Amino acid sequence: MRKPIIAGNWKMNKTLAEAQAFVEAVKNNIPSKELVDTVIGSPALFLASMNELRQGTDLQLSAQNSYFENAGAFTGETSPAAIADLGIEYIIIGHSERREYFHETDEDINKKAKAIIANGVTPIICCGESLETFEAGKTAEWVEGQITAALKDLTAEQVSNLVIAYEPIWAIGTGKSATAEIADDTCGVVRTTVEKLYGKEVSEKVRVQYGGSVKPENVAEYMSKENVDGALVGGASLDAESFLALLDFVK
Ligand code: PGA
Repeated sequence: MRKPIIAGNWKMNKTLAEAQAFVEAVKNNIPSKELVDTVIGSPALFLASMNELRQGTDLQLSAQNSYFENAGAFTGETSPAAIADLGIEYIIIGHSERREYFHETDEDINKKAKAIIANGVTPIICCGESLETFEAGKTAEWVEGQITAALKDLTAEQVSNLVIAYEPIWAIGTGKSATAEIADDTCGVVRTTVEKLYGKEVSEKVRVQYGGSVKPENVAEYMSKENVDGALVGGASLDAESFLALLDFVK
């Protein structure tokens, strides 16, 4: 049985004081981490402080990006080694906003995945198609291509522990969520791709999230689907009450 993983993706929102208040509001009100992994993906700037505040609780933390080198002359970048040193559990990579606005390529995402894993942190690797690709009926081949490229040269053991998020670009921040059937089908494509590359045992371990306009009202339906192991949530993760309500399906 794969443990569900609900991760908020705050994107470029909040101030330090707001991030701290959020952690205080949720940290003792989330379900046990034996039942679900509850994660906040915060801007890197707030992680050190949030990490101190969440000590002794089941709240887990994620960065939203990192570079693939551990140190050096890379002005403005954040090192995966530095994130690991704080004790942060996850790093989101390959989000469609990073691919679109910051020109990240599949090759960059593969390098980041390797560097993050080498530092003992779990990558949450995002994939997903544009509306044009969806309407052309080419979602499966698109997602298979992105996942194959992202996982290049990773070992079976490394892939078993990964989290992959399927986020159709047309459903992100639009309020126009994919139906639970579409989410299940395409999360299934992710799993089949992993199976082709690494075999059944690995594909049954890898956790696949759906993301794109997930909210408290629809999360349970996604979570009821066989291939959906969690959600990556933007807008509905920004408010503490809404974030906690996303976890109500765990009963
Ligand atoms: P959304 O964002 O929940 O606001 O659609 C999801 C994401 O981009 O991870």
